[in-house]
Amino acid sequence: MLAPLLSISLVACHQDEIVETEITCGQEPHTHAVDLGLSVKWACCNIGANSPEDYGNYYAWGELETKESCEWANYKWHDNGTGGMTKYNDEDGMKELTAEDDVAQVKLGEGWRMPTQAEMQELKDRCKWEWVTVNGVPGYKVSGNGNSIFLPAAGSQYVKQITSQETQGCYLSSTLYSEDYGLAVCLGFTQKHRYMINSERCDAHTIRPVKK
Ligand SMILES: [Zn+2]
Repeated sequence: MLAPLLSISLVACHQDEIVETEITCGQEPHTHAVDLGLSVKWACCNIGANSPEDYGNYYAWGELETKESCEWANYKWHDNGTGGMTKYNDEDGMKELTAEDDVAQVKLGEGWRMPTQAEMQELKDRCKWEWVTVNGVPGYKVSGNGNSIFLPAAGSQYVKQITSQETQGCYLSSTLYSEDYGLAVCLGFTQKHRYMINSERCDAHTIRPVKK
């Protein structure tokens, strides 16, 4: 009876270890397009990052610049009079960012754009996710088709505060939540869970671009 018990405790021990991992995506400069066997290729780095483990920049949905404070009062598409939205609202019916409001298309060009909700869902459901560190930064190694990207747990910016670095990731999609023009869809994660989650459009998150 002793032997099986011993092997069980060894397995549990091993699962608690966080593996330091190297991510190789090609010669610098980044950004490389990584083929994970999905409908789009994924960038090796976040927007504004110089390496896969860099957090990069935090953007509110549909904005092109980072801000010291991210809140409704200074959100680009917020009507402070009515509290509604000046674009992507129930009048225009638009729930997907157009090219000129997509920071990946504007900053990177060359076919890069923000991922849609469906593309993020595909990344979440069809790849292997392993919690690792890269150069000491925690996050997920996401693998498919023999290739991998690394998504650092970069946290998010609410008003002036960047929170949950090293414990949580929240990556912005180009898609609004179907039931509410005030909410954008994100792919979120912690060490234990991966999930699709809605965020207020004025909150700022990291962005991992895609291309065909
Ligand atoms: Zn790269």
